Amino acid sequence: MDKSLIIIPADYFRGELQTGWASLWAEWLPIGPLSVASNNSHNTMVIDEAITPDYIDYNNFSDDIEDIGFWVSIGNYQTVLERSRLIRESAPWVRIGWGGPYCHIMWKKMIERPEVDWICYGYGEEAWERVLKEGLNKDIPNIVYTEEGELIVTHQKLRDLRTLKKPNFDLLPDLEIRKKYFMEEEEHCGVGIPGVDYEGWQILSMISADGCPVGPQGRCTFCTRGEEAYIVHGAEVYAKNIKEYIEKYGKIIISEICDDFMNRGFLRNLDKELTKQNVPRDKFYIDFCFGSVGFLTIRDRKKKKEFIELLKALNIRRVFIGYEHRVQEQLDIVKGGINLEQQDEATDLLLEAGIAIDAAFLLSVPGETELTMEIVYNYAKELKNKGGDKIRIRRQVLILIPPSALWQKGLKDPQFKEKFGDTALLDIWELTKATIELFYEGKNKPGEVYKYFNKLEELN
Ligand code: SF4
Repeated sequence: MDKSLIIIPADYFRGELQTGWASLWAEWLPIGPLSVASNNSHNTMVIDEAITPDYIDYNNFSDDIEDIGFWVSIGNYQTVLERSRLIRESAPWVRIGWGGPYCHIMWKKMIERPEVDWICYGYGEEAWERVLKEGLNKDIPNIVYTEEGELIVTHQKLRDLRTLKKPNFDLLPDLEIRKKYFMEEEEHCGVGIPGVDYEGWQILSMISADGCPVGPQGRCTFCTRGEEAYIVHGAEVYAKNIKEYIEKYGKIIISEICDDFMNRGFLRNLDKELTKQNVPRDKFYIDFCFGSVGFLTIRDRKKKKEFIELLKALNIRRVFIGYEHRVQEQLDIVKGGINLEQQDEATDLLLEAGIAIDAAFLLSVPGETELTMEIVYNYAKELKNKGGDKIRIRRQVLILIPPSALWQKGLKDPQFKEKFGDTALLDIWELTKATIELFYEGKNKPGEVYKYFNKLEELN
């Protein structure tokens, strides 16, 4: 048995545990926890309970297990608490650590909980390695713990993707289950492109950059990411990683999870490195990555043509674009510095390159009315008419999550503040309803928002 585990408990949504292929995460491999597990010497396995909910017997831990880490998100925090309590009862010798995106935000409230011994509030690779080796101490970066009643918060340290080992997917016991599903499922829940034959292809996730690619002036107001340096992976290392994954798995489908993969400098270097390192281009596709309208607006015809050729040469088959809204006033509120013309230019560029687009829209943003939602709907319909099967509409009702700018705006409302302002246990469904009440002009008719939510999906 392994001596340490990192567990990713499943999310709760409307009181239901999200496991199996209903889970949002089925096609995204958890490369954050995997990177932590791959960069240490403690034989750590990563268990994703959305995919393998019964892998761990919480009543029966071997006394070999000394450390358990939980990856915490806003959606699974309740499950993390339940799981941690079970471990406290059945295996009180285990040291419990929490890390992941929600800990970056909520560690001050979380560290008061009796269910946890330490929290990683930043990147976890060095912290996990050293806590397990040295025990909790003040020299280890990015951690929080208490010592004789005193709260210890250690210094912050970024990671460098260029020097870390790449995630080792063998540390994830559910890899075969995901592969089987990915080959068999026709609809797909995220990365796979409907209708593509994935027989014999292994799905993987990679990351080419950390941090936010836009400066403080352009931050999206729904974004929960803290101020963080934007560090791009070296293209040389990235190409080498693709090559090694191909050597191991044969043919690979990559979902690239950095916040904006359309960094032209990086992509040009990647193209050169793939050639230099003889990476076989018929053995990989990038079927999911994020791109921003800003990076995809290229006015110069020659440069645009070159960029289209580059995207094709890199086997990029689909890009997720957060269009967010089609009314300039609402767009300005959620995502500064983008205009409607740029949305059209980005769409045309990708369609000209033969690349599919996941077009994402937000509903119930401040000032939303039935008319503004109708404008979004008509635009989504126009996109479908233009791109056909190459366009998939994605939609989301805005959810206020701390510490985003819109969350801060929400806190100005006394009722919202009273209900959500002082707890870390936030229920996504309750938050969604509250967001509609706060921002939708017809707040007494939330059904209108859900009507457009469903209509947008029906376009697919
Ligand atoms: S969502 Fe917007 S603000 Fe957040 S990381 Fe991405 S680009 Fe930056």
